Amino acid sequence: AQNYASPPYYPSPKGGWVSDWTASYEKARVLVNKLTLAGKVNITTSVGWQMGRCVGNTGPVYGLFPSLCAQDGPLGVRYADLITAFPAGITTGATWDADLMYARANAMGEEFRGKGVHVLLGPSVGPLGRSPAGGRNWEGFGSDPYLQGVAAYQSVKGIQDAGVQATIKHFIANEQEHFRGDGQVTNTISSNVDDRTMHETYLWAFSEGVRAGVASVMCSYNMINGSYGCQNSKLLNGILKDELGFQGYVMADWLAQRSGVGAALAGMDQTQPGDGSGWADGVSMWGPELSRSVLNGSVPIDRLNDAVTRIVAAWYQLGQDTNYPDLSFSSWSSSDYDVQYKGSNSGASVLVNSHINVQADHADIARAVARDAITLLKNEGSVLPLKSSDVIRVFGSDAGPNPSGPNGCVDRGCNQGVLGMGWGSGTADYPYLSTPIDAITARASNTQSILTDAVTSAITTMASTANAKCLVFISSDSGEGYITVENNAGDRNDLFSWHNGDALVVAVANVCPNTIVVIHSVGPIIMEKWADLASVKAIVLAHLPGQEAGNALADVLFGDVSPSGKLPYTVGKQASDWGSSVAIVTSGSGAIPSTFTEGLYIDYKYFDKNNITPRYAFGFGLSYTTFAFSDLKISAVGTPTELPPARAAKLAVPTYATTIPAATEVSWPAAITSRISKYVYPYLDSPTTITTGTYPYPTGYTTTPQPAPAAGGAQGGNPALWDVMYTASVTITNTGSVKAKEVAQLYVEFPANTGFDTPVRQLRGFSKVEIAPGASATVTFDITRKDISVWDVVRQNWVIPAAGTGGYTFHVGNSSRNLPLKCNTVSGC
Ligand code: BGC
Repeated sequence: AQNYASPPYYPSPKGGWVSDWTASYEKARVLVNKLTLAGKVNITTSVGWQMGRCVGNTGPVYGLFPSLCAQDGPLGVRYADLITAFPAGITTGATWDADLMYARANAMGEEFRGKGVHVLLGPSVGPLGRSPAGGRNWEGFGSDPYLQGVAAYQSVKGIQDAGVQATIKHFIANEQEHFRGDGQVTNTISSNVDDRTMHETYLWAFSEGVRAGVASVMCSYNMINGSYGCQNSKLLNGILKDELGFQGYVMADWLAQRSGVGAALAGMDQTQPGDGSGWADGVSMWGPELSRSVLNGSVPIDRLNDAVTRIVAAWYQLGQDTNYPDLSFSSWSSSDYDVQYKGSNSGASVLVNSHINVQADHADIARAVARDAITLLKNEGSVLPLKSSDVIRVFGSDAGPNPSGPNGCVDRGCNQGVLGMGWGSGTADYPYLSTPIDAITARASNTQSILTDAVTSAITTMASTANAKCLVFISSDSGEGYITVENNAGDRNDLFSWHNGDALVVAVANVCPNTIVVIHSVGPIIMEKWADLASVKAIVLAHLPGQEAGNALADVLFGDVSPSGKLPYTVGKQASDWGSSVAIVTSGSGAIPSTFTEGLYIDYKYFDKNNITPRYAFGFGLSYTTFAFSDLKISAVGTPTELPPARAAKLAVPTYATTIPAATEVSWPAAITSRISKYVYPYLDSPTTITTGTYPYPTGYTTTPQPAPAAGGAQGGNPALWDVMYTASVTITNTGSVKAKEVAQLYVEFPANTGFDTPVRQLRGFSKVEIAPGASATVTFDITRKDISVWDVVRQNWVIPAAGTGGYTFHVGNSSRNLPLKCNTVSGC
């Protein structure tokens, strides 16, 4: 039986020991030495909900350090105008295109920078998608750690190359919305995860984000193994900061902080939005309480110095100390002028919105991602592509506009009109929303439509039009738990399409022999009522396309571009196909266990292990052409020793005086004559009366550093984990008649009898290439040490199993279930 306790790990490792960050830490040390205790506390504590113009605003230190603006979210600048509403993460994952992942993130970074945002609250790689109905899966890139990991790496690079700090979130195992624990001190889900599953499944993408140099990690609301995400010393101090060598700072999710001293000791570095127990209540667990904790000796000053140094170093690391644009919008107001402190409706009226247009040519990137994500699941009799002369009949509200306008529902908390994103903090306001009906009508003049969802005789009559191609639009939505939409409290209630979608498809298909189903969805939907119908000729999954929904869809429907998206998750035939991980925990109290008993076996790994035939396999997607795979070769290039080479020692970190600062450093300054209501200040009324004492510390607390973990050594872990052990190459030939892109996918099958239970196949490489008809392309893969390792919980290291028979088999093809080629490291190809 598993023991799901979270062991203690203290003290918090100090940042600055990785050479890539040395220069930034040295600059940070110089700046931090100039800060008073009040200044240090300000940098770790935001000023309160809606007390600055971003969703998070750290306290400024005048003349030394700015208020850092942190803003959602993973698909664009939230609560701002003149931005781009990019396709969602799940859509980006469905492109299986590392270059587009980077391009989207880089364009987003430019927009955040252009608006004056220092910290982008994304990418989201947790939830990973353990439960297909999980409300926020769509903010991330798909239910496979490797796919999610490539997207994490590319996204962090893209955002940060634009000079904006990325925040990878939510750390960790934050797999459902029910009882996620926001603003609740009781009744919080505890994701109980064993150590191997943690490393091989949930941690993988975070490791890639850290390897890419991410500035910030957001700790999650939920508990992990019985300990809250933002005070879990094993995860923050142990795994993130020591083993993964994370050099940036840990930021709390909004109101995810659960303790003052405990969170500091466990490795949290910054609290958001500053208030602690409730929104805009002005009461913080840090702020003045952190000042008090330092003065009374309960939080060692070197822990605060490390937290501040990490934040300041990240700011230098991104070059934000020179020429950073001023913040130019307000999340809380659409007027040009408004009160300065919206949370307490106080302060002078100031210019809060100056409407800087940051869109550049990013609509092209948004459209390219939306287009290249479109996943063609069925296309019989070549019903697609459409011709402009076709008789086209369109049905379903998902083809049209939201009657209240594209931003008619706050944080997209409704499902009306074409579904371009889910709901919650991971949304942005649309500058415009291209609808399918407009884009289709612009291409084909003989188009008629009824954009309602209930089956009516008007619909079946129109669908009976001779020679018509009937497009039925259906959708499935989900989002963040603070909004309930049509009775879905964040997580989806089931995996069926919304608004009676199955009935509409069946009714149209009954009378229209050329029915084409178009789906906008946050994740897999069950299509068994119609997927096999002879009159359902085509199924097109457009995911969540963002502002370019209609244009991107028309590009593919009319054949300007061949579809090239691949499923970033498995589509099962029924909920039980996913096994126990399908269940969202919806009842309980206190620390409510959600035990990940399936371990590594989520999504296709569960289907493969249990021989369940999916409706559509992970990685699957058709094209308007056909491809042949040939000539797979592998060569051994590295030395796959059982254990990786030993890590390097840590470099020296900045040091500071460890004496407790003067209490007067947090006295109220004389210049503050009237205090802003609800503003979180670092000051205390009578700090000089505070005396030091002795305190009970968490079990296992120590100030002696832990031995450096063998699995660590640089950002992401021991750099030897990315040493290439094998290379593979494969030839892809376009055997059809149109130019198109194809994704070559490589899956590893471990040797038998290793002593480790390993999934049947695991994705370990992919590459998208465009190939002209009749032409061929060669794709290569680098297979790293980590790719062929397991996490050994006893040795606490990545291990290439010493035992095992038959060698490694690498399978290559274009889905997790269509892998025509294989090579084995012992028996060859
Ligand atoms: C979400 C985060 C988000 C934050 C700030 C929280 O509710 O979980 O993803 O970044 O709010 O809006």
